[in-house]
Amino acid sequence: MTIVMLFLFSPQPAEALWKTNMELHFLDVGQADAIYLETSNGKNVLIDSGDEHDGEKVVSYLQNRGVEHLDLVIATHPHHDHIGSMDRILESFDVDSFYMPTVTYHTSYYKRLINSIDRNGIVIHEAKAGVKVKLARNIKIEFLAPSKKRYKSLNDYSAVIRIQHNKNSFLLMADAGVVSERQLLKRLGDDPVDLIKVAHHGANTGTTKELLRRTKPKHAVISVGRKNKYGYPSKEVLNRLKKNDVQVFRTDKLGTIIIKSDGKTLKVLTELPQS
Ligand SMILES: [Zn+2]
Repeated sequence: MTIVMLFLFSPQPAEALWKTNMELHFLDVGQADAIYLETSNGKNVLIDSGDEHDGEKVVSYLQNRGVEHLDLVIATHPHHDHIGSMDRILESFDVDSFYMPTVTYHTSYYKRLINSIDRNGIVIHEAKAGVKVKLARNIKIEFLAPSKKRYKSLNDYSAVIRIQHNKNSFLLMADAGVVSERQLLKRLGDDPVDLIKVAHHGANTGTTKELLRRTKPKHAVISVGRKNKYGYPSKEVLNRLKKNDVQVFRTDKLGTIIIKSDGKTLKVLTELPQS
């Protein structure tokens, strides 16, 4: 297994690096995913771009926060609700480092993404289990999946990542299904996570009892469209989260959800009021 270690240079003194804080923004892009990670040492990360029609929203959200370039961009897997606007992102920002799983998909939006990658001279790094990226001395990203070369379902190629920020940890499941989940449980150990971004918009294709038992998340975010045609999130998944006392935040109810982490505690800010 090859482990790629990427150090993103930061000119701040060592003392400040240990105190780097971070925010995770789960953008309300309806029935899609777009997650922005910002660190107080000035690193910007984008995980997925939303769907085809979300480009404008995601680009202006980042621009309004003063983002000019992205240190790291992850396309979790080539479904339209994750990469539909990725070409817009690559045209709008300088991207230092780009990761996606090795799987091709014969769709117009996938082709658009590949063309945009070529046009902008971007190198594709393979998103796969074992890859680690350091954003600050105290903020580390590790890819937990995919760990196999071939899967039946495109969702199982999803780049699943864990972010460790001092004592806080975040598990972002993208659309990983139960096959990938079983493999990543082996890699995960018994370390609990503070927050899980629930797989596949809350579909009952993952988020198993076993995953919740092992990861013991206190909070969960579900990125899901209002009155979506799939009926997500599923009742089964919501029940499992409830049984495990997980506090759930949903973009269809709360709009964009911002999680602020100081390495010890989490603060949740939502666009719409929490009832
Ligand atoms: Zn999806």
